[in-house]
This record gives sequence, structure tokens and C-alpha cells, in this order.
Amino acid sequence: MNHILAELADQQKIQDMIASHEPFMAILAEVTKMVAREMPDATVTFMLYDPTDDTISLVAGEGLSEAYRRGMQRVKIGPSVASCGRAAYAQQVVITRDISDDPNWVNYRESALQENLRACWSIPVKMTNDILLGTFSTYHPVPCTPTDDQLVLIMRAAGLLAFALARTQDQRALRIQSQRYQSLFNYHPDAVFELDLSGRFVAANRGSESIAGFSEEHILGLHFNEFLKAEDHDTAHQAFDQARKGIPQYYEVGAYNIRGDEYLIEVTNLPIIVDNEVVGVYGIAKDITSQRESELKLHFQRTHDLLTGLPNRVGFESRLSEDLSLAKGHVAVFLINLDGFASINDGLGHAVGDHLLQAVANRLADELEPGDFLARFAGDEFGVLLTERSRVEQALPLVESLLSLLAKPFVIDEHVLHVSASIGVALGQAFSKNASELIQHAHLAVREAKAQGRNTWEWYIGDVDSTVREHIELRRELLEAVEHDQLVLYYQPLVDAVSGEITSLEALVRWRHPERGMIPPGDFIPLAESTGQIIDLDRWVLWRACQDLESINAGRKEPLTVAVNISPVHFRRNGFFDEVKQALDESGLNPEKLELEVTEGLMMAGSEKAIELLQNIRNLGVRVAIDDFGTGFSSLSYLRQLPISKIKIDRSFVLDIDSGRENAAIVEGIITMAHHLGLEVVAEGIETERQRNDLVNRRCDILQGFYFSRPVPLAELLKLPQQLPEA
Ligand code: C2E
Ligand code: CA
Ligand code: CA
Repeated sequence: MNHILAELADQQKIQDMIASHEPFMAILAEVTKMVAREMPDATVTFMLYDPTDDTISLVAGEGLSEAYRRGMQRVKIGPSVASCGRAAYAQQVVITRDISDDPNWVNYRESALQENLRACWSIPVKMTNDILLGTFSTYHPVPCTPTDDQLVLIMRAAGLLAFALARTQDQRALRIQSQRYQSLFNYHPDAVFELDLSGRFVAANRGSESIAGFSEEHILGLHFNEFLKAEDHDTAHQAFDQARKGIPQYYEVGAYNIRGDEYLIEVTNLPIIVDNEVVGVYGIAKDITSQRESELKLHFQRTHDLLTGLPNRVGFESRLSEDLSLAKGHVAVFLINLDGFASINDGLGHAVGDHLLQAVANRLADELEPGDFLARFAGDEFGVLLTERSRVEQALPLVESLLSLLAKPFVIDEHVLHVSASIGVALGQAFSKNASELIQHAHLAVREAKAQGRNTWEWYIGDVDSTVREHIELRRELLEAVEHDQLVLYYQPLVDAVSGEITSLEALVRWRHPERGMIPPGDFIPLAESTGQIIDLDRWVLWRACQDLESINAGRKEPLTVAVNISPVHFRRNGFFDEVKQALDESGLNPEKLELEVTEGLMMAGSEKAIELLQNIRNLGVRVAIDDFGTGFSSLSYLRQLPISKIKIDRSFVLDIDSGRENAAIVEGIITMAHHLGLEVVAEGIETERQRNDLVNRRCDILQGFYFSRPVPLAELLKLPQQLPEA
């Protein structure tokens, strides 16, 4: 009875120790004591199981030698590993009556016998869910098996140990968990904080303070908006809303620190979910200002040339790819390669070379427009990307102006340097290829330009469609047409409406192309206008017409007047007036016999200056006619202010004058009003007798058209009779 009471008291004490979280080793000592009281000559041991390597190690065993203890560390459990290894493995009680003849003990027998151990009763210590924690054993100095009471006792002891271990492990796991998260919160270098569902701060870690400078006390209770840039409030709000619905968010916003400086943060919002309900939002904010700055810097360095500050080839290519898709291939690429740069660099040193490259970059940049894109590829090579003015007619004049720009001397570090450039041009719209291919084409063209002797441009003509190719070639050839005497003047007579007598001639230019034959002005005048070549061309026509007319009039009783067409581009140019005077002087032609035909559109634009110029010309004695009248917007009353003498009704009105009532009315109105203003009226494009009669009846003064004569070369003109049409 005493025994039972003592045992109950022991158990009660052990349970109290467990409940008050006493250390496991103290509890183990008490359990050992409890068992030893019943079995005074037994050696009580406990081996702790380590699931990571499936071993057991002796942690308690009073009276055992140090050597034995050492031998019992990290013993792999198994079906035939002494008593404990086997008990742990099979998870059941193992009773070894005599160690000396038990086959499972072969490996440990000798050391056990040395310790005077003959019997071993071993029992697994495990949790209710069969998770193994260790083994509890008693060793005995003589071979023996347990009585029922003894078995119950050691099982009870194992149960108490299991209970104690389970509790301490729970505790530890809990402690580890809470402290682990606590330190995650405390020591996280980023700002970690908790917001309630209205977006106000409930907690903030030290990182919040080190990033933004605000202490936790300052932050608590405030709304996150108060720390963010106004324009980012929406972004933050939308993300916070999503997080509140349970969806984690990730975004970047601008924020202010305690000094009011702006900085960039990368924010993570995570819902705090308790029992399936969002009760708040965690935030983690990381300062990425310097990271972003260095990214930008890196990006700049990757895409820019450091010497000139211009984009480099990488930047150029990425911009080109973008533009190719945006502009649907309507881009032009120039590749500008300096001629003779290497010798300057080698001869005068790299510093001079670098300064020259910078000067080249500046000159190019000055010439380009905001929509154009300039880059330095490498060494002495620059790239230009055009999108807004990528059409041939726009791009080519620019290439030419860049060429002449670079051919002008540079003054660099007291050296006067002459360089020129070879430019390769490639056109996106003709190929719609990718960026690197387009650049490749421009490269090929540069090489071609170099081969042509430098200081020139070449167009990549791979498989350009034929109209573009023709345009390019025509343009180049037109340059030479004037010099090589390929331009010819034809003359078309204008006759008096009543008598049919020739009173004047209109000079009409033709291009006698060596391969293509005669090219009509409609095919090259617009081209020449767009490139500026019209100026040389018109100057030549003016000069030629004055010369020709002198010889035509030489054999005539009544001298004829010659009309020359003047392009608006030419007319607007400074120096035009002097050119007219010069042509008259050189030919000796009576100014009264020269007439200039200008279009009405020209009069409308920049009127003040145009009217003054017209007046000066008129004062010379030269007459001015308004060409293609009726196609523009000028009203007749507006003509009153102009010092002109004649209007030429456009051919389109004459064309259906005999069928279209409306046109007939317009023509009649024009003639009446013009006469009222004292102007002569010419009708162009008379092809039939009916048209002629119609206009005669409407009192038109002068007639012109195929019905009387086509435009003819000078030699043929001289053979025409005085009166037209020929009988
Ligand atoms: P424009 O000044 O209206 O010249 C009259 C055009 O009508 C000429 O065409 C002439 O050949 C054509 N024509 C004359 N009578 C008839 C007819 O009965 N029926 C038809 N269908 N056509 C007729 P062309 O020579 O081809 O010249 C076309 C345009 O080119 C001219 O129109 C003028 O604007 C321009 N042009 C011609 N020569 C010169 C020049 O030396 N300098 C400049 N700047 N422009 C020129
Ligand atoms: Ca004309
Ligand atoms: Ca005309």
C-alpha cells in the first residue's frame, strides 16, 4: 500500500512539473527516481530519437561508464539493434531476458557485459499519434523478465516522459514561431507595417523609421496616403483595396520622407487573414530610389555615347524598331561616315579627334529638327533617323544639306580641319524590314558612297520598288541635266482671238534625257521644286527664252512677246528680281517683250512682299500674267490690287465649255470682270473649232491650244505661218 501511495505521489509530482514547464531533464530525473524506487538494482536509461537521421542517442543513464555512453550515440534504429534500437524500430516493448545469448545484441553484448548489464527491458516513448520521441529502458544485473507490476510501471514512466516531451516540444515550437516572426518584423531592413482595414497604421517596425525617418509613434493612427505623393494615391488605393479583398499586391509609388524629400518605394501589400477573414493588411515598403537611379544610369550608359552625349547604336536600334512598327515602315536612315577622320585622329591626337567628333555632333544636331533622331554609332560614324520627313523628296535635300554642312571647315583647338562625309541612305517604307537590316542596308550604301570617291551620298537600292528607284535616279540626273545641255525649250504660240495672228509665245521646258527620251515637265518640275533644283532650271529657261526671242524677233515685222513660267519656289527667293534684270541685259531683249506667268496661289501667300516684287518687275516694263486662273481661290476683285496685265483661264474650264453650262457661265463671268479691270484674257487648251468659236463669242482676247499649234522646238516655230490655224 505504501508503495502505491509513494508511486502516486511520484506521479503527481511529475505531472505538476510537466504542467509548470520544468525542464525535461529534471522531469527525466524524477521519473528515473520513481522507477528506481521499485527496482533498486536497475540502471534506468533514456535514449532520444532524432528523426533527421533515424538514430537514437543515450541522454540519461546513471552509473554507466563514459565509454558506454559514447558507444550509444547516434545508433541507427533497426529490427536487430540490441533492445532499444529494436523497440524504437518496431515501436513496441522489447524484453531481453539475457543479453549474453540474445542474437540482437551481438554488436553491443561485450560492452554491455562489461557494464554488468545482463537483462534489458526497453519500451518506445511516443506521442498519441505514434510519433516516436525515444526509448526508455531498464537494465538488470541478472537475467530476468518483468513482473506485471514492473511492466505497468515502466509503461507508465514512458507515458509520463512522452507527455513531458510533447509539452516541451510544443512550447519550443510555439516560442520559436512567435519569436521568429517577431524578429522578421523587428529586424527586417525594409519598412514593415500593419494597416487596419481603413488604411491606418497599427504597427510599424524599425525599418520604417530608418527608411522614412518617422518614428513608430509618429506613424501610428495615420493613413498611408499621408506619406505618398498625391498623384500616386490612386495606385496605392487600388492596391490596398485588392489586398483588403485577400489578393496580395505589388506596386511602386512615390513617397515623402520626414525631410520632405521625394523617394521611390516598392510596396507589397498582403492581406492578414484570420479564420478566413481579412482583418488587416501587412505592408512592406522598400526604398528603391537609388536602385532605380542606378538602373537609369546604367540604361543611359548602355544606350548613349559618352563622348557626345548622343544615343549610341543600341539606343538608335531600339528607337528604330519602335518607329518601324509605329510608322509602319515609313522611316529613313542615314549613316554618316566621316572621310579622313582616321588621319586627323592619328596625326593631331585623340583629343583633337574627340573635339572634332563633338563639333560634328553639334553641327548635325543644329541642322536636324526636333522629330529627327541623331546617334553616334562608333568612331566617326553617326546615324540619323527620320520619321516625319522620311519621304524621298524630303530626305534627299536633307542629305545634301548635311553633306555640304560637314564639308565646311571645322576650327578645333586652333586647327582648321577639313573633313567630308560619305552618307548611306536606306528607306524603311520600301523594305519594311527590321531595324538591324535597315542599318545594314545603310552600311552597304555608305560603302558604295566611299567607293564613289567620298563626299557624296548613296541610296541603298536593293529591291526598292521601281517608282522610288526612278525618283532617286531622276533626281540625281536632273542635277546634271542643266550642265549637260539636256534641257530644251519648246514654244507654243498664242493667237489673237479675232484675227488668228500669233502675238506671243509661251516657253515650255522639256528634258531630253539621253536614255528615256523626251520627258514632259509634269514628270520633273514637281521633283525639281521639292529639291530646290527648280531655281537653276527656271533661271536657265529665263535666260534661254530671252536669247531665243531676240533671234526670233530679228526676222519679224511685229516683234513677239515670250511668256516664261516661274515656279513659286523661285519667285519667292531673294535675288529673283536681279536674275530677271540680268537675263534681259544679257540678251538685249526689250523688257516689254517679256512676260512672267505666275500662279494665283503664289499671290495669295505672303502677299505684301509678293505685291511689292510684282510692282518692281512691272516697273522694269516686264509684264505679269496669272496662270491657271480659276483653280485657286482668288476672287476677281482681289486681282484689282495686283500690278498684272493678263489672266490665263485654266484649261479645265475650256475643256467642257461647250457642254457644261456651269463652266460656260464661270468663263463668261471671268471675261467680263477681267475686262472691267482692264486685263487681257487668255484661254488655254483650245483643241476644237467649237471651243474656239465659243470663246471668240464670249469675247476672249487671246487663245492658246493644240487647235492652233502644239508646243514646238524653235526650228519648227520659225516655219509656222503668221496666222493660225493653218488653212
Ligand atoms: P502651263 O503653264 O499651264 O502650260 C500649259 C500646258 O498645257 C503645257 O503643258 C502645254 O503643252 C499644254 N497645252 C497647251 N495647249 C494644250 C491643249 O490644247 N490641250 C492639252 N491637253 N494641253 C495643252 P506642258 O508643256 O507639259 O507643261 C506643263 C506644265 O509644266 C506647265 O503648265 C507649267 O506649269 C510647267 N512648266 C512648263 N515649262 C516650265 C518652265 O520652264 N518652268 C516652270 N517653272 N514650269 C514650267
Ligand atoms: Ca503657263
Ligand atoms: Ca496654264
